[in-house]
Amino acid sequence: MDTTRHLPGFPDGHDLPETPGALATRAVHAGREDLAALGLHAAPLDLSTTYPSPDSRDEGARLDAFAATGAELTGPPVYARLGNPTVARFERALARLEGTESAVAFASGMAALTAVVLARSAAGLRHVVAIRPLYGCSDHLLDSGLLGTEVTWTEPDGVAAAIRPDTALVVVETPANPTLREVDLRAVAAACGEVPLLVDNTFATPVLQRPVEHGARLVLHSATKYLGGHGDVLGGVVACDEEFARDLRRIRFATGGVLHPLAGYLLLRGLATLPVRVRAQSAGAAELARRLAADPRVSRVHYPAIGGAMVSFEVTGDPHEVIAGVRLITPAVSLGSVDTLIQHPGSISHRIVDEDDRRAGGISERLLRMSVGLEDVEDVWQDLDAALSGPRSRPRTRPEPAAR
Ligand SMILES: *Cc1c(COP(=O)(O)O)cnc(C)c1O
Repeated sequence: MDTTRHLPGFPDGHDLPETPGALATRAVHAGREDLAALGLHAAPLDLSTTYPSPDSRDEGARLDAFAATGAELTGPPVYARLGNPTVARFERALARLEGTESAVAFASGMAALTAVVLARSAAGLRHVVAIRPLYGCSDHLLDSGLLGTEVTWTEPDGVAAAIRPDTALVVVETPANPTLREVDLRAVAAACGEVPLLVDNTFATPVLQRPVEHGARLVLHSATKYLGGHGDVLGGVVACDEEFARDLRRIRFATGGVLHPLAGYLLLRGLATLPVRVRAQSAGAAELARRLAADPRVSRVHYPAIGGAMVSFEVTGDPHEVIAGVRLITPAVSLGSVDTLIQHPGSISHRIVDEDDRRAGGISERLLRMSVGLEDVEDVWQDLDAALSGPRSRPRTRPEPAAR
């Protein structure tokens, strides 16, 4: 029923010309290819949960096609759990930045990882090979067996030996949360053979690293972090080839972990400034890493060779006093926002990981993880310097609930 294929407002990503150009150009224009034909400049936000389906015969055939293949619906959307045009724009844009055929968005980074695991277990594969550290909840999701997975934790040079006939995935983060450990992706990808390599690229973002160029098949983001970039949207996304994307769409439809359209709108908007933000925040982080490395109150600094806006460091004193001492910097979990955040992984982001496993992953109790924002670096340093100097006279208190 081809007359429905190009109705205004119902973009069909497969028929659209791809935005050419360098990364910064694609960051601004990708995902917006259909707007001019719609007579629009800003991307519209489609909040519909359902859509008119006057031709039930045709709708039935389209639903059959989706169930059989997982290919994105062509023509008008049917129901929001099946697909949404605002979210689809964000998916197209992220795929263009990561250099993949497709991307599939989810309600959160954890929903995205869950969908990948379920897609593989649907094929009877439940064994995962992974390298520590991973983000605490990713470690927990795989290690707890909540989804029926069995994990072999290994080092990069042990990946090939750890792979079994029932291995579903190899999972790595680089730079990893929270130690910023870097993994040689090319070497790990070579060791994976036919087993899909999933790289969590949340920390590097496609601005600094595009894992598919190094042999990864699946690139995962907690879009909550740098892609959104302003601390006000929760989301996840997997960039991959269209074949895997089809499995993920079917899982997403069946399990319902969809990204809300408002989140899709905010994430597309966030992508436009991603290269500028990541470069500016990385410059600040590199300067703070230099100062921390020269500071006697700091015993170790972790800063990735590829750069980035995250700095982790081990303090000689009490890390909890540093957290309690910051004023400009927000003592909070999460990362990737325009403002600087600091947290203690042993207490928060990686609390759910067993103490022994945390230690095995190199997560010291004296480790602090800082996400550097867009403030002037001198102001951030002044605050950090004061916090490192010990307890302040005026304790910081939590706001009253009434203030919210
Ligand atoms: C936060 C985070 C996740 C989980 O993402 P959510 O959006 O919080 O579900 C996964 N991986 C990394 C590296 C993260 O930092």
